[in-house]
Amino acid sequence: MNEFDVIKTFFKESRFFTNPHKIFKCKSFVGIGDDASVFSPPKGFDLVVSSDLLIEGTHFRSDHTPESIGHKVLAVNLSDIAAMGAEPLCFTLSVNMPKFDSNWLHGFCDGIFNIANETSCKLIGGDTVKSKENAPMFFGITVIGIVPSGKALKRKSMKLNDDIWISGALGDPGEAIKNNFFCEKLLTPQPRLALGKKLLEIANSAIDVSDGLSSDLSHLLEESSKNLKKKIFASIDFLSVASCLGPCLFTNYLKNKLSLDECCSLAVSSGDEYELCFSARKGLRKTIKSLSLELNLPLTRIGEVICERESEKIPGFNIKKNIIWKNTKGLPLKPENYPPDGFKHF
Ligand code: ADP
Ligand code: MG
Repeated sequence: MNEFDVIKTFFKESRFFTNPHKIFKCKSFVGIGDDASVFSPPKGFDLVVSSDLLIEGTHFRSDHTPESIGHKVLAVNLSDIAAMGAEPLCFTLSVNMPKFDSNWLHGFCDGIFNIANETSCKLIGGDTVKSKENAPMFFGITVIGIVPSGKALKRKSMKLNDDIWISGALGDPGEAIKNNFFCEKLLTPQPRLALGKKLLEIANSAIDVSDGLSSDLSHLLEESSKNLKKKIFASIDFLSVASCLGPCLFTNYLKNKLSLDECCSLAVSSGDEYELCFSARKGLRKTIKSLSLELNLPLTRIGEVICERESEKIPGFNIKKNIIWKNTKGLPLKPENYPPDGFKHF
């Protein structure tokens, strides 16, 4: 099969796509097959655009199933759309493979089109290239979403005294990478799109946890400090983090392999979570608890945003770190015991 047959057979027909947004039925729409795609965004909405590149060896392994790789490539991009409070619309897919393997590509397409279909996100274009023999595969996606004009959730808009919340459970993907065990959440993460959309009316700021809560929360604080023109800090309680540990990590505690504090430290530095960390006014606690019931998704309050004056009162306070961690006894961790930062490429 040459490049054009691959595009036609695997990507053009979009055979799994059953729920296209009405903008793709309008006359001006151009999809796969021309030099570029064309669509007109719905009135009253801003476009939200995000790209992620997934490389064999760094983000997935070649012995993972093609279905799970297809799922993950799109899921991690959708997670960024969720963190902005947006709704996905369409995506482009760039594929770079050293060889053509029909069975593998069928599996990959099942994975990617299943989640595309579930989330009504239409494939509108891309690129397909062959790399040198034995070169790693990589996949690049750009996903485009929509959000009511001016309403996108941003990293920079945390407010002083906000509560800090996290969705789902933390720690298992990080443990699975380190100890090489099967973990469904690592292979097929679920982007928190329904939560993100609801948070538009609730949260002041949000970020998705891809590198680890310790570094992602730090980004929220940095951006918001710049925006507020004063340094803000987060005080995070391990006692609350302990109530949202992933089941595998928690088992290590039950088997006395790790202390509860050690489990919490691992949970907040675990990457590949694709949960949403968000901040909201204290007055919204009841609203967020009922949202958790409505979505059938745990939402846990793990700390709060505090000012420099308050932070200084905490023993061991370190101005260079914008997160103050409190152990399960409520005592501040010494900086040398801080959870490691999350994943960084360079
Ligand atoms: P060009 O040479 O102009 O870049 P291509 O031959 O690369 O065009 O692509 C032809 C058409 O197929 C374009 O509409 C492009 O968007 C689409 N396409 C190529 N690869 C993919 C893919 N992996 N997924 C979806 N669409 C693709
Ligand atoms: Mg091309």
